[in-house]
Amino acid sequence: MFGHPHHIPQPPHSAGKPFSGLRARIDPEQIPSPIEAQEADEELWSENVYPTLPGTHVPLSTTEYVALDQGNSTPRFIRLTTWNVPSTSDLASTCQIPLGALVQPLADTHPNEEGVPFIPLNPASDDDDEVEEGPLRCEGCRAYVNPWCTWTSGGSRWRCNLCAHESEVPPSQYAPINAPSLVPLNPHTQLPRPELTKGTCTFAVPSSYHASYPAPRILPSYVSIPSSPLPSSPLPSSLSKAKATTTHNATTNTTTSPLSASFSKMTFDTKSSHVPQSTDKRPPTPMHTIFAIDVSAPSVVNGYTRAVCEAVKGVVFGSSRHPTDGAGGGDEGLVEEGEDPCLPSVCKTAIVTFDSTVHFYNLSPRLPQATMHVVPDILEMFCPLRDAMFVSPSESRNVIESLLDALPSRFTNTNITGCATGPAVQGCLAALAPFGGHIVVFTASPPSLGPGSSSPSFSSSSSSRTTSFLSPSSTASFNTSSSASTGTGGGGGTGTLSAQDAFWLDLGDECAESGVGVSVFAASGSGLGVELGSMAPLATLTGGALSYFPRFDDTRDSDYVRSQLRGTFKQIRGYDASIIMRCSTGLRVRASHGLFTPSPSSPSLSTGLLTSSSTYAFSLTHSTSLSSTLSSFAGPTLSEREYAYFQCAVLYTSVDGMRKVRVVNVGAVVSGLAGNVFRYADCDAVVTFFAKEAISTASIPKLENIREDLTERCAAILLAYRRNCAAATSPSQLILPEAFKLLPLYVLALQKSKPLKDHSVTPDTRAYYSHRLLNMPVRTTLQYLYPRLLALHDLTDDIAIPNSVVSAVPPRPTSTTSISDSESTSVFAQERHMSQLKLPALMRNSHLLMEGYGVYLIDNEETMVLWVGTSVSPALLKDLMDCDNLLQLDTLNPHIPNLPTLISKQVHTVLASRKALRGGSPPPKFMIARQNLDASEIEFSDMLVEDTNNGAMSYLDYLCFVHKQINVALTSGTSIGNGGSGFGLRGTPW
Ligand SMILES: [Zn+2]
Repeated sequence: MFGHPHHIPQPPHSAGKPFSGLRARIDPEQIPSPIEAQEADEELWSENVYPTLPGTHVPLSTTEYVALDQGNSTPRFIRLTTWNVPSTSDLASTCQIPLGALVQPLADTHPNEEGVPFIPLNPASDDDDEVEEGPLRCEGCRAYVNPWCTWTSGGSRWRCNLCAHESEVPPSQYAPINAPSLVPLNPHTQLPRPELTKGTCTFAVPSSYHASYPAPRILPSYVSIPSSPLPSSPLPSSLSKAKATTTHNATTNTTTSPLSASFSKMTFDTKSSHVPQSTDKRPPTPMHTIFAIDVSAPSVVNGYTRAVCEAVKGVVFGSSRHPTDGAGGGDEGLVEEGEDPCLPSVCKTAIVTFDSTVHFYNLSPRLPQATMHVVPDILEMFCPLRDAMFVSPSESRNVIESLLDALPSRFTNTNITGCATGPAVQGCLAALAPFGGHIVVFTASPPSLGPGSSSPSFSSSSSSRTTSFLSPSSTASFNTSSSASTGTGGGGGTGTLSAQDAFWLDLGDECAESGVGVSVFAASGSGLGVELGSMAPLATLTGGALSYFPRFDDTRDSDYVRSQLRGTFKQIRGYDASIIMRCSTGLRVRASHGLFTPSPSSPSLSTGLLTSSSTYAFSLTHSTSLSSTLSSFAGPTLSEREYAYFQCAVLYTSVDGMRKVRVVNVGAVVSGLAGNVFRYADCDAVVTFFAKEAISTASIPKLENIREDLTERCAAILLAYRRNCAAATSPSQLILPEAFKLLPLYVLALQKSKPLKDHSVTPDTRAYYSHRLLNMPVRTTLQYLYPRLLALHDLTDDIAIPNSVVSAVPPRPTSTTSISDSESTSVFAQERHMSQLKLPALMRNSHLLMEGYGVYLIDNEETMVLWVGTSVSPALLKDLMDCDNLLQLDTLNPHIPNLPTLISKQVHTVLASRKALRGGSPPPKFMIARQNLDASEIEFSDMLVEDTNNGAMSYLDYLCFVHKQINVALTSGTSIGNGGSGFGLRGTPW
């Protein structure tokens, strides 16, 4: 019998779905376990280095492996859904495996791997007039030079691996071919060129790669002012009402003075020499950050404003606090020592507050304290300050700190409940448009004033783009499920957007075009949402972060706000980015999913912000070649004698102000055999691909349809395997290909995830998780879908004891050939050494394995719950939680105390190793659930995805269900889904 003989009854959970009809006979002990698969893979790669040349199986995304970049990028940067690419579109459709690539261009490397090489610009030549040369690029397809290029004519020409075009090597970069490796050396250093030996590298780029100033918009969302005022110019009459009220905060005097600046209705007035031409290039600068803080009554009253001001101080200046009083609840119970500032010292920052008006602050270090400039007219937003708005935090530390300290009390007695969130973002954009950068919006109410508010009086400036945006061929993605029903059957948006939604989409678009990323940190009060779904496109289109603090409680959530903000800033690597995916002739990109704005005129995607966890899914397809359309025989579009190549290039400005291109190259075997396509399929990548695609389309049909689609696609892959690779087996037998043996489980878990599950999800929560899942790296997605469950009550003494660990770690190989890109070098190297520990075994996610005297920890990277059984041993409770009685456990301020006991050390070591593995990502929210006592037990129980819950079946039942569908299709000779003979899964009573 599967499970523990004395297992606990299923804890309170959201209702599941029973299995109807006769069950197929599947032995519960025999159903594929992700724990066993992950452990076997861990063991394989704990001893071996993964070499990246094509032709092998890649490690699972959940495995901590060390990879050696042999000219092919490691799977940290790119994963293909199958590493044997089907040679024809016919074979691809026979296999039913979606052809795609998941790219995480700025992923952290393992501390024992070589860092990503950084290739500086060519040394300046003697001739001063010579234009700086960037990286070598193909004249045919603009691909970057990479290890798969071949060299001809003695090194004076090179052939592109993607399009086969031959390009000349410019004389300054020419070097004769180096005999053993058949590639030219660096002409200046005579050393091997890292861009020709490593799959992933970063190029410095010359000024021609600088971003353009955003093009003038027909209807700009804000009024721009030239940086240098032109006093002689009269104020345009149409804008005479746009004026700033200057309030000196120390006094109650309010002076109203029109700005002595000229306004231009166009974003950049091309007639004025003081503002740049739209064709001008914008020199990169260290990242500018604006913190826009809600100071309306709801935010101030529930303590959110205070928590935010503290968190912002921590990010900008660091902190030396020692939260020994049990704080740290947001950070999985870990107590942090002092914290460093999160921004390099060269970065500039600004502060904006907003309620019914928008307030800008002059933070000049010459002032005794900050002065506030109010823009009362939220319909004509502009930025009243330019020069003293952005300051160096170190120079203006006193001014900024005293402002952040004073803000919560200054607005204590406010009775303004309206919240002009839209105008505040417009004002910030007006200030940032000349540089690009990052806006962090903190709000605790729905946008209720000005454009973007739910008030019907504000109509969108543009609505034509919304239809194309939602069309299936769209490459961008977002979820407008704010208005989605939370009842049974879920339901996304209807496909038509309100003016309010269109406003946020337009604004997100405009921000991305300007190289500005917007992160939204929203807190809701009790019972009220914040319409996160409306504001979410700001973050989705610009690559920003989204954080959500439901029913914000000052004491419980302050530390969580702080850790989320720190996590976000620690991850940021660049801004003002554009991304392009290129692939071999014969393949093309069909669609892309992730956080970006598609470019209307080019295949590249723009995004304001780029972080180490930014992950993009590219759906690929075989392109029909001219010859195959003319002939009746559609021949292979890819040659099996060559590899299929993929190159993702990301152009961005680093946080410290340098323009760079990160290039990720991978070559994969091309196969004409279905067996090989299945054998080298990557289930982790397929599941992540399904997740991103499902979220992208979540606003079009009903969620129920999306769940049914997922089941059909899962069954279709398994059926394709049966028909093409295991035809001789009996239809009554469930045959799962090795690569996809866990696919049904992960697809079921995806249907149980918060963005896609049936009910019990508020619109804000759904919007939040949709955003998260859309941007999640492959590893995180897998761990989100199948949480790690750990029994803490039976850890043996040798588990997770950090003795002599660091000495056991092999030294990091030193690179003699290249300068390492400092950004990609993991700052968590020291912490990650911890992961060499003997970590405890994980458990399958089912209550059938849990006991009433146990203590369990479940972690899906978003939420971590400590479950304590009612029959827990008092000694264990004392040793772990320093608590004598279960009823005395503090669940309002949950944390795991740091005690001098073995179990406490072990648990803290496990938590620290997970923190290290997460890199800079924000920590999961920590909760304690006591059996039959706490409401958080539902959260815990719903994470047990093998059980019947979340409006769906148990794993065993689902497997039976999928098996039945395959069985019927096999015996009747039909196919699964709409494309078949009408038989499908739809309408079945499951
Ligand atoms: Zn090319």
